[in-house]
Amino acid sequence: MFIEPHFGRKGEGKGPKTGWIEVICGSMFSGNTEELIRRLNRAFIAQQHVEIFKPIVDTRYHDLDVVSHNENKIRSTPVQFANDILLLASNSEVVGIDEAQFFDDQLVEVCIKLADSGKRVIVAGLDMDFSGRPFGSMPALMAVAEFVTKVHAICVICGDVASYSFRLNQSKEQVLLGETQEYEARCRRCFTNGMREQKEDP
Ligand SMILES: [Zn+2]
Repeated sequence: MFIEPHFGRKGEGKGPKTGWIEVICGSMFSGNTEELIRRLNRAFIAQQHVEIFKPIVDTRYHDLDVVSHNENKIRSTPVQFANDILLLASNSEVVGIDEAQFFDDQLVEVCIKLADSGKRVIVAGLDMDFSGRPFGSMPALMAVAEFVTKVHAICVICGDVASYSFRLNQSKEQVLLGETQEYEARCRRCFTNGMREQKEDP
């Protein structure tokens, strides 16, 4: 369970509040967007100024909402480049970024600048792509973050804890957006077994 950071509360210490970076990562169906929404909702309720961004490439659902798989949603601003966030988030206290793995690699610098300027930055995304490799800027973001939360799905084959997004079709395209029809959450063993079967029987 993620414990909300205690530093940065209003009225404590001297001078302006410090910012920080939180990363929420996991496979598809791990609920990383739900966890992002949970944290952002708490900030909303506390009447903090919250802005949410996602890459324009993610057009699976409605354009302006960060929509999670269980229909929880909050409005977000789609942006093309990570650098766009700097300008658009200048007045906010809390910055949420969803589907971070699809942003360009400037995202790491952008998150650092936002946190340096005193903001709480919460980034959610897939930590690995369909082949089990670190995805986009996620590994670098995990390194520079104060807090990293890895959330898990359940393996559809065996019911163990799943960390991998197994792609059922053979496309080699890293950015392939899809839902339940194209991916399964799998544990390490069922993921590697599936990858081997696909290699042997393409
Ligand atoms: Zn399994």
